[in-house]
Amino acid sequence: MILASQDFSSWKNNMKITAIETHVCHARMRNWIFVKVITDQPGLIGWGEATLEWHTRGVVGSIQDLSELLIGEDPTRIEHLWQMMWRQHFWHGSGVVRSTAISGIDLALWDILGKVHGVPCHRLWGGPVRDSIRMYCHLGGGNLESFYETPVDNARQFADLAQQAVADGFSAFKSMAVPPTMPVEGLKAIKAADACVAAMREAVGDDIDIMVDCHARPSPAMGMQFAKALDQYGLYFFEEPCWPESLDSLAAINAAVTTPIATGERLTHLAAFRNLFEARGCEICQLDLTHCGGFTEARRIAALADAYRIALAPHNPQGPISTAASLEFGFSQPSYIICEAVHQDVPWRSDVVQESYVVDEATRTVTPGTAPGLGVTVDEDEIRKHPFQQELAQRVFYSDGAVGDW
Ligand SMILES: [Mg+2]
Repeated sequence: MILASQDFSSWKNNMKITAIETHVCHARMRNWIFVKVITDQPGLIGWGEATLEWHTRGVVGSIQDLSELLIGEDPTRIEHLWQMMWRQHFWHGSGVVRSTAISGIDLALWDILGKVHGVPCHRLWGGPVRDSIRMYCHLGGGNLESFYETPVDNARQFADLAQQAVADGFSAFKSMAVPPTMPVEGLKAIKAADACVAAMREAVGDDIDIMVDCHARPSPAMGMQFAKALDQYGLYFFEEPCWPESLDSLAAINAAVTTPIATGERLTHLAAFRNLFEARGCEICQLDLTHCGGFTEARRIAALADAYRIALAPHNPQGPISTAASLEFGFSQPSYIICEAVHQDVPWRSDVVQESYVVDEATRTVTPGTAPGLGVTVDEDEIRKHPFQQELAQRVFYSDGAVGDW
C-alpha cells in the first residue's frame, strides 16, 4: 500500500491507535521483527522494526505488554508516548528487550507522523543535511558463514572477500579479523589478525576503508594489543575492542591508538551514552535505532554526541526497515558518517520491503526518497512465507572448554 498520495492532514488532531501488531520474518541468522501500528484512520499505519536476535519471543511479548499503554492514544504525540513506554510500568525501559520493543514502536510512530504531514522523516527534523550517504557492507554481504566463520588463519580468504566487496561497488567494508581469545594469550592470535588485515589492505589498496569488529571478544589487555598491532593499517574504525561495560578500558585503548574506536550498539539509554562519551570511550558512536529507544532517544543521543564531537555510524545488521530508519536518521544528522547495511543475508530481502530511497549500486551511495515517513512498503504475504524459526545457535568456547564471547 503506497500512502504518498493520501492526505491525512485533516485528521491530525483526532486520531487514535487501535492496534499494534508484530510480524516476524525468519531471515536465517535473525528473525526480523516488524512492528505495525494501526490507527483508526483508514489506510494510516506505521511500520517499525524491533529485531533482536535470540530474544524474538521476549520482544514480541514486550510489545504486547506496551500495547496496553498505547491503544486509544494519539499516535502523533510521540514524545508523550515514549515517556509513557519508558516510565509507566515502573521498570524503566533500559533493558535491551524492553528498549528494543519501545524502539520498534517509536519508529512506527514517526513513520505515521511523516505520513500525516506527507514528508519523509528527515524533513520533520529540519530537512536533509547532506545529498547522499555512503553504505558499508560486511564481508560476504551479510552471509552468515562469510562474515562470522572465515577463519583468521586464512588471510587469503579475507583478501578475496574484500575484493568482492569492492567489486560490488562498496568503498568501505567491515570484517571480523580478530579471533576469540582467552583473557590473556600470546602472539599467535595477534599475528593472525595482523595477517588478515595486511592481506585485505594489500588486496584493496589505500582508497578503500576497512573496518574491524572485535565483537567485544577481547579482554582489555588483548584489545589493547590488537588495536596497537592493527593501527598501522589505517582502519576506518576499530569496533568493540573489549566489553562495552569496560569504559575505562575503552578510553585507554582509544587514547593509545590513532585508529578511531567505535562502540555503542549495546547501549540503550541516554545516560549510558553520556558515561561512554564522558570517558571518551569512542570516536564513533554506533547507537542502534532499533535498540536505543528509536528516533526519539537517538536524536537526544546525537545531540549529546555533538557536544563531544563524536561521529555517528548506527549499528544496523538487521532487516530492511532498520536500514530505512538509519538512512532517514543520517539525512538529518550532521555527524552521521556512514550507513551499515547487509544486502546478501537472504536472497529474498527485497521481496519483503520496498524502499523509497535510491541506491547507486556502482558506488553504494544512497540518495533520499520522497515517500513520507520511512518510505517503506511492506509485503505481509512475503513475510508469511518465512515464519519464525529459532535463530541459528552461535556458541564460542576457548580451547580449554571455557565459555567465550561470540
Ligand atoms: Mg558490532
